[in-house]
Amino acid sequence: MASETVKSAREKSNHDTRHERPRSAEIFERGTKTLVGGVDSPVRAFRAVGGSPLVIDHAAGTRLYDVDGNEYLDYVCSWGALILGHAHPDVVAAVSEQAKRGTSYGMTSPLEIELGEKITGAMPSVEMVRFVSSGTEAAMSAVRLARAYTGRDLVIKFEGCYHGHSDGFLSEAGSGLATLGIAACPGVPDAFARLTLNTPYNYLKGVEDLFRQYPKKIAAIIVEPAAANMGVVAPAPGFLEGLREITRREGALLIFDEVITGFRMAYGGAQQVYKIDPDLTVMGKIIGGGLPVAAYGGKRQIMERVAPLGPVYQAGTLSGNPLAMRAGLATLLKLEVPGFYEGVNSRTERLSQGLRGALKETGIPGVVNVAGSLLTIFFCKGPINNYSDARESDTALFGRFFHQMLDRGIFLPPSQYEALFVSAAHTDSEIEQTIEAARGSLKVLREA
Ligand code: PMP
Repeated sequence: MASETVKSAREKSNHDTRHERPRSAEIFERGTKTLVGGVDSPVRAFRAVGGSPLVIDHAAGTRLYDVDGNEYLDYVCSWGALILGHAHPDVVAAVSEQAKRGTSYGMTSPLEIELGEKITGAMPSVEMVRFVSSGTEAAMSAVRLARAYTGRDLVIKFEGCYHGHSDGFLSEAGSGLATLGIAACPGVPDAFARLTLNTPYNYLKGVEDLFRQYPKKIAAIIVEPAAANMGVVAPAPGFLEGLREITRREGALLIFDEVITGFRMAYGGAQQVYKIDPDLTVMGKIIGGGLPVAAYGGKRQIMERVAPLGPVYQAGTLSGNPLAMRAGLATLLKLEVPGFYEGVNSRTERLSQGLRGALKETGIPGVVNVAGSLLTIFFCKGPINNYSDARESDTALFGRFFHQMLDRGIFLPPSQYEALFVSAAHTDSEIEQTIEAARGSLKVLREA
């Protein structure tokens, strides 16, 4: 797929990335005068790993191509949205065809109903759905609805989980906040921040204590059913079951944030894998096939409180956007093929075993956590079961590993606190190539 002019970054060993990517560096520098930090989302700025960020020209399959003509094997895949890889022909055809029929109608189209039916068919807990444009919007709206439904104000979230950047969620959050070490965000009034109660992931006693401390005041627990924004942390046996039991007992709602795990861990998301029936579910990424779509949905009696059926207001100019619906529909069609998840999950398992082997061979302490096709390599000794464990990782070592891999043409998420996303486009030989690159990278780190 690579054109003849494409140079492999793998062939290079020079660490001064400005020399490797002069055009990228020049364009990024120009961008910093207009875009805040040269980016539209903080993690793209490489602050956690240093070096000059990538400036992308185009992408296809598992490959990103930068404006200098370098090619990278991509494990970010638009932060998980692209489970089929970049520019999948079916998605491109669907979007191209739709563009000619109009890009936004401002009225209902059959496409929204079709994608909605796909989602309710995949997740039995989701009886009704509302499309929005970002995961942030979906999580924020689900919490508003939970508050309205229960008549309570407080919400429990878990340290290191990320639910977008709405005011209430910007405390002890994962993803970019973990990357940049931001515990609380200026601009969020104390009165808002106090409505979110943080407690450690995988620790039911913390949840029980909060319900004891605030009886009949907690509207909902929101949780990533497999956490991916402090790096990957799978739920401990009994954790999600415990949350379901406690919320039922206490008259609070259980909200699964499946923005990452939905249609990734299985067609029916993490709730299918762990057999949990949440009240509300937040989705994003894969359901839009790489276009800006997210959704929240759940039990009919709760969803019927949303306008126009009920008084809980939430709206969007581009919600249910036909281009995005077509991209989502084309993507979901591929995921329905029997064996799809076995394939992508088993290649991820192979990658995790290879990475563990490479760590062992080189004697570098590390832990590889996996959940479906999500994976994180943590540079630390102990097991990682929550955010404080994850914070023990050697992030400087991760940064050096990241650059060693980039030099070998492999693009990992540029932060210790993010997941690698394996797509269906990743082949067995690319997985082997990645393991080999990791072995070489770790050897260099050991000798440095
Ligand atoms: N929830 C989770 C679990 C996420 O991972 C993210 C983003 N990665 C969000 C919510 C927010 O989604 P968005 O970036 O589309 O606003």
